[in-house]
Amino acid sequence: LAGMTDQPCRRRVGVMGGTFDPIHHGHLVAASEVQGVFGLDEVIFVPTGAPWQKADREVSPAEHRYLMTVIATAANPRFTVSRVDIDRGGPTYTIDTLRDILAARPGDDLFFITGADALTEIFTWRDAGQLFEMAQFIGCTRPGYTIDISTFDQIPADRVTMLEIPALAISSTDCRDRHRRGEPIWYLVPDGVVQYIGKHNLYPNHPEVSP
Ligand code: ATP
Ligand code: MG
Repeated sequence: LAGMTDQPCRRRVGVMGGTFDPIHHGHLVAASEVQGVFGLDEVIFVPTGAPWQKADREVSPAEHRYLMTVIATAANPRFTVSRVDIDRGGPTYTIDTLRDILAARPGDDLFFITGADALTEIFTWRDAGQLFEMAQFIGCTRPGYTIDISTFDQIPADRVTMLEIPALAISSTDCRDRHRRGEPIWYLVPDGVVQYIGKHNLYPNHPEVSP
């Protein structure tokens, strides 16, 4: 029994928060890469509630973003989707996301996966210190963004790991704009997500596009 008292089988769990409007292959490659490099048992995708960072534009309803995330991740046995941020309501703060996920799986090791751009925002939050007690942060480098951790002196270096993701210059903004202009988004987002966007006309003012 003595051997069992000390962290017998801590699961390693990735947490990938995002607006996912829509989810695209940049998100999926990043999650898959982190899963492989860090040997994660599971990666939980967590679509945001009302995203205060994006008050400048209409964000698609949470249920659509949730379902696109489910469609995109369904085939990967290690990928799951959590509704904690959607069901909590209101603006999403990463600290609440981590608290809720940890409450549901006490003792697990959390790895918060984020793009380098979002990492910059997190580092500037006042309560950033608490976040680093709750999870290891994996900053994915993304085309067009650079980050120098040493400029954030309040961040414990051992709690942040930068990881180069195979370059994927895909963003949700670009996918929405392309779709609105009538340009294809096939192969930038999963097939089922292309079809879901068309079925629900999520990003209107576009002609129909075929592969
Ligand atoms: P938007 O253009 O609307 O901001 P986005 O493409 O940045 O959308 P988000 O849902 O905002 O997508 O991103 C969720 C998380 O995924 C963030 O941490 C973001 O930095 C990261 N991310 C987004 N695109 C990529 C990519 N191509 N490669 C790696 N990480 C990415
Ligand atoms: Mg973004």
